[in-house]
Amino acid sequence: YFIDPGQIDGDAVVLQGEDARHLSAVMRARTGEQFIACDGSGRECLAEIVNIEGGRVEGRVVRTGASESEMAWRVTVAQSLPKGDKLETVIQKGTEAGAAAFLPFVSKRTVVQYDARKEAKRLDRWRKIAKEAAEQAHRGIVPEVGEVATWKELLAGFGRFDRVLLCYEEEGRKGAGLKPELEAFASRLPEGAEGSFRPSLLVVVGPEGGFDEDEARQAEAAGAVSVGLGRRILRTETAALVALAAIGYESGE
Ligand code: SAM
Repeated sequence: YFIDPGQIDGDAVVLQGEDARHLSAVMRARTGEQFIACDGSGRECLAEIVNIEGGRVEGRVVRTGASESEMAWRVTVAQSLPKGDKLETVIQKGTEAGAAAFLPFVSKRTVVQYDARKEAKRLDRWRKIAKEAAEQAHRGIVPEVGEVATWKELLAGFGRFDRVLLCYEEEGRKGAGLKPELEAFASRLPEGAEGSFRPSLLVVVGPEGGFDEDEARQAEAAGAVSVGLGRRILRTETAALVALAAIGYESGE
């Protein structure tokens, strides 16, 4: 469960609302049993339940420490808005696979219409899905879900990442995989880069109709490298997951 950062440093943690209900009614936890709470910044604690009452679960902190479930590299997934509720799948599975953040965006062949004024509820829902998936996966953080960006805005943000990988089906068709690029990325990392330093990667995935050549050139001009994910054409909602699995493997997790 995710709690406010302040709570983890005290002796007690309190769950309320949906989290308290989930632990007491769904998980049927009782006094004396233990649960894990994270403060969302990568720290977590083990707590023993001392009281369940009035929609609250009170716990006594037994142990605190750094969460060990985060990937060695910080991976953000930029996903061109897919049709229907496929972005929910990308966020849920991507969170389980270790993504640190999601940036939905609109590109030339994005099929769905997006009206930010009408879509605030959808953004709330995506954020809720990220939180629930993070809890179920025992993540140390809840991945952020950004507001839907334009292609231009996305390109302008490339500089915030150590490396930007444009998943480009044309590279895939040629038989190119992610491995050489990830090995090159790993070899350029400073020696002994440990502690709180985490290299950052942005993985950019196109919509059902893919990227056109202009977009690939624009992304490269903005600093991205085009990469393939193998010879098979993956569904848009599958691509980020395949990339995350490869990155997790190559980073040594
Ligand atoms: N038409 C299918 C669909 O409806 O989902 C496939 C869409 S595929 C063109 C969507 C995106 O997934 C691409 O723009 C690319 O970012 C990524 N992708 C899929 N297969 C890939 C591959 N073999 N190599 C690199 N990227 C790939």
